[in-house]
Amino acid sequence: MAEPSAASPAALEHVVVVLVHPQEANNIGATARAMRNCGLTRLRLVAPEEPLYPDAYRLAAGAHAVLDQARLFPALDDALADCALVIGTTARRRKSRLEPLTPREAAPLVLACSGLAALVFGPERTGLTNQELDRCTYLVTIPTDPTFPSLNLAQAVLLVGYELFLAATTPPPREHPTATARELENFYAHLQRVLTIAGSLGHGADEHMMRTMRELISRARPTPREVVILRGVLSELERTMGARGTTLPHSQ
Ligand code: SAH
Repeated sequence: MAEPSAASPAALEHVVVVLVHPQEANNIGATARAMRNCGLTRLRLVAPEEPLYPDAYRLAAGAHAVLDQARLFPALDDALADCALVIGTTARRRKSRLEPLTPREAAPLVLACSGLAALVFGPERTGLTNQELDRCTYLVTIPTDPTFPSLNLAQAVLLVGYELFLAATTPPPREHPTATARELENFYAHLQRVLTIAGSLGHGADEHMMRTMRELISRARPTPREVVILRGVLSELERTMGARGTTLPHSQ
């Protein structure tokens, strides 16, 4: 059967969800639904134990197309034959050469893959065997309470899918224009002058005080316009203090 080309984030079209020996049709249906929530459409089933109809269809809600177009394979190797990246999921630490990643850490690896990327999930009762995990390029473990790490199959698919969906659809934070080093240095000089007039400096801890001010402003990463506004405030303070008779040093 052809795999669906339904609307999904383009960045996830190469992602394939593989369920190895799923035991309950309910979970296959809930997986199809979770996949569609996350913009995933390609489902591969390795020797499922139950027929998809009617339970999988009932649990899939509106995600029938994922089930209609799911591909069946007799063995895991067949399902993975055309995949360039294989991510195995496991609840428990296995005897494995690989240190498991979190779904969030794995998401950029999946997005960067230029061929098909498989996410492999194991059977409900036993999970993936060590031999099956050996087929994987990376392992993913969803962080949980360590005393109860085993998630429901479809819920595990949802959490991994969710991280992929976020990574594929969240635009990078927009950089705002930031003030230049010169604008900031002029601001700090102005601030230091005003703090000196106000009596906040000159008690032996000036360097510490100014460093704290620099840390605060550095964290805020002000725009050039914000620095102009802050300097306007400083100038007002200078004028007010001047009117009160404070001697002003030469202004920059
Ligand atoms: N009893 C099995 C759990 C199987 S749950 C075991 O302890 O391994 C069915 C499948 O859901 C698992 O094979 C895995 O693919 C996925 N899964 C469940 N919990 C998970 C977790 N915490 N992290 C990653 N995958 C998980």
